[in-house]
Amino acid sequence: MAKITQESNPIDPVEEYLNMDDDVLDELSDEEFVSQQRLLLETERKHYGEQAAQLRAEADSMVQNNEPAEVQFDEESGEGGTTAIDRERDLALAGSALAAIEEVDLALRKMDRGVYGLCESCKQPIPRARLRALPFARLCVRCKEGGLPRNR
Ligand SMILES: [Zn+2]
Repeated sequence: MAKITQESNPIDPVEEYLNMDDDVLDELSDEEFVSQQRLLLETERKHYGEQAAQLRAEADSMVQNNEPAEVQFDEESGEGGTTAIDRERDLALAGSALAAIEEVDLALRKMDRGVYGLCESCKQPIPRARLRALPFARLCVRCKEGGLPRNR
């Protein structure tokens, strides 16, 4: 008997969540919201991890390709220099991907402690729409823009 699968019309849960209207987003229970955000964070973590690995592999391959038996210091062509700059750039990008992973992990730890989504400066809840756009945001927009936390 032919099996009917739902694969013909797959719905990516992350995609669906990202397309959700802000009103609907605000109506989610805290539990639902945090579990959706966790999914986003885990997706980002995977993405940044792959990016970092790929960039590092690229940087490593440049080293291998750039190690001929005879090293020539040809100042006129400057070709070796270009490779070194590309390699530096890849390593720098890999570094920022790893830094992003640290931010993701920090956000996941906050979820475990039940303080996810609170601004680290003014301690007020960060609007959900902002957290959805930037799941590891530490600050609300006002604090991020340098406004002083308001003491009521
Ligand atoms: Zn704030």
